[in-house]
This record gives sequence, C-alpha cells and structure tokens, in this order.
Amino acid sequence: MKINIFLILIIIFSFSEHTFACDETVMIDSVEYQIDDVWCGKLIDTTLIAQYEDLARLPDSLCYKEYKIYIRTDAAKAFVAMAQAALVDSIFFTGKSGFRSPSYQKQMIRRRLKEGKEFAEIIRYAAPPGYSGHSIGNSIDIATESYPFSKSKAYQWLTDNASKFGFIETYPKGNETLKTWEPWHWEYIGEVK
Ligand SMILES: [Zn+2]
Repeated sequence: MKINIFLILIIIFSFSEHTFACDETVMIDSVEYQIDDVWCGKLIDTTLIAQYEDLARLPDSLCYKEYKIYIRTDAAKAFVAMAQAALVDSIFFTGKSGFRSPSYQKQMIRRRLKEGKEFAEIIRYAAPPGYSGHSIGNSIDIATESYPFSKSKAYQWLTDNASKFGFIETYPKGNETLKTWEPWHWEYIGEVK
C-alpha cells in the first residue's frame, strides 16, 4: 500500500512537472499566454535592450527591399565592412531584420493572433515579446538572392568569413538554444578573430 502511494505521488509529480514546466507568461491585450519550454528562462534582461540612441541605420543599399534596418552602431559598421568584403568576392546580401523592440514583437504576434493562429504555433517561429535576441540590437537576419538561405553562396561565405568581422551564427544546426536552425540569423559579438 505504501509503495502504491509512493508511485502515485511520483506519477502526479512527473505529470505536473511536464504540464507546468514553465511558469512564465506574457500578456497581450489582457490575455495571458503561456511560454513554452523552448523560450522558458530566455526573457531578455531589460537593461540589455537597445535604446534608439544606441542604433544606427544601415545604408539603403544594404537593406532588403525598402526596409529600414537599425542595429547597434558598432554592429552596423562591422556589417557594412563585411558586406563590402563580400562584394569583392562577388557575394551580395542585405539585412532583412535588425533591431526589434519588445513592443514591435508584441505587435507582430498580435497581428498573427488576429489572423487566427494559435499562440503556441506563432512562438515556434517568432520570439514572444521580451524574448527576442533582436531587442538587444546586435542581431541581424540576412537575406540573399537565392533560396533556401542555408544553401546560398552568401551563407557559405558568411560561414567562412563572418567571424573576421565579429559576427557569429547564433542558432547553428543542432543548437540547443532554439532547437531550430536559423542560418540567416547572425549576431555581432564584436570580437574579431
Ligand atoms: Zn533573427
């Protein structure tokens, strides 16, 4: 009898562990949404979030379409230098997304919720508000002419050369952080190797 109670307790405990693995939530339009395991514990420290005075706009020629891309000033300088070096090797890429504030992130998710998507599904491909590395200002999503990005010459070039300009691939294949591979997402760490 004692063993049975013990077993039941273990089952209840492991069930609750599984169901309530993350106690973090975000509020969007007065609705509270549960954060899933992938994002749990990855809320960005608000002191790290870039302020507008920390940011510089990339030259239009290095922005995808008509986008206006802002990243931290040092990162922007390094990105321009990197793009120029790539051009010498006949490789062309642009920035598709740079700094995104938590409120912008919230707006993006709000739009997808209105389109009828489930929150859990949305945060499989986009960070919940307050969780995006893009809010720090050093991250940039890169675009090039060919698709998929992982098979492009630009990706190959970045893999070989980006570290010389202080950029790293934040979520490489098989990473434990996001689980998914984001070959287009690069981050300036400022360390020229
Ligand atoms: Zn990104």
